Amino acid sequence: MGMAKVWVVPEIQDQKLKKISLEMINLARRLGEVEAFLIGDGVSALAAELGNYGVSKVIVAEQADLKTYTTAKYARVLAEGIKREQPEIVLIGNTATGLDLAPRVAQRVGAGQISDVIDYVEGNFIRPIYAGKAFQKVSPAAYPLIVTVRPNVFPVAEATGGTAVVEKAEVSLTSDDLRVLVREVVRQVSSRPELTEADIIVSGGRAMKSGENFRILEELADVLGAAVGASRAAVDAGWRPHQDQVGQTGKTVSPTLYIAAGISGAIQHLAGMSGSKVIVAINKDPEANIFKVADYGIVGDLFEVIPLLTAECKRL
Ligand code: FAD
Repeated sequence: MGMAKVWVVPEIQDQKLKKISLEMINLARRLGEVEAFLIGDGVSALAAELGNYGVSKVIVAEQADLKTYTTAKYARVLAEGIKREQPEIVLIGNTATGLDLAPRVAQRVGAGQISDVIDYVEGNFIRPIYAGKAFQKVSPAAYPLIVTVRPNVFPVAEATGGTAVVEKAEVSLTSDDLRVLVREVVRQVSSRPELTEADIIVSGGRAMKSGENFRILEELADVLGAAVGASRAAVDAGWRPHQDQVGQTGKTVSPTLYIAAGISGAIQHLAGMSGSKVIVAINKDPEANIFKVADYGIVGDLFEVIPLLTAECKRL
């Protein structure tokens, strides 16, 4: 195959590119000629920004009906775009939205899919399997190929100062695609970063004993500019909302720094955070499993250690 045509499907929030979009461009630039397929309403202004990151062509599917994501609408528009333009590889975020969209589009265009990719080495996509215990090398045998990319793993693409050619895509939604109407999106307002995008995460487990006690983790998080996560034990106890859960049945995170306080390190928790670059564990039990993956371990009572850590970080 010559230079592959690689599509990035950017994720957009509040008319801005989410970080995963620029991370996908970084990977795409290693795979071939980068184009982007933008879906939304009032999003064409982002084409210039994409050009600046090395995208040579931006195809814009823009219409008022596409303002908010629904599976049917976006799957239709993207699948038709792929059939028309025939990119070899299509990169989609391995995010809540991307995981909903990618398999449907793959099915519609008869593509294979490689999910949750964390690296690309010598023609192979690398993805974790068995809850992160092993890594699989997958090489494409046919095209088109849909690839979902784990957030916060690839660095964001560097600016090139380039400009992109912009084309309008044909959008022909049918009444079937419009059966579901999103009337309003109510987003939780938080001063902290989103878990999957955060550079630092402070997580608490069963040892926190109550929702109120999470305040000490929030204080540390605010000093560090971090997000607050939780183990399933803490979520099941009702101390934190499910959206904060890290692990196999929660979110997969890859921050630069993950601080696990009072979390034992069950395999299902590790599945969501073992890709973190530096792991700090605080646990009373020196035998706790979390210490096997930790880069730094503090054996002690988190109710003593966390306030000390917060006080020290404040002095920095
Ligand atoms: P525990 O295992 O009870 O650990 C608490 C730890 O705190 C202990 O190591 C203890 O030594 C330490 N400790 C106690 N007091 C203190 C103190 N004062 N100071 C410091 N340390 C202290 N779990 C997830 O997290 N995410 C998931 O997505 C997830 N998905 C699952 C899916 C399935 C199908 C199943 C079966 C399980 C899943 N689990 C998940 C649950 C998982 O198996 C564990 O039960 C859970 O992670 C335990 O949470 P924990 O570490 O907070 O609690």
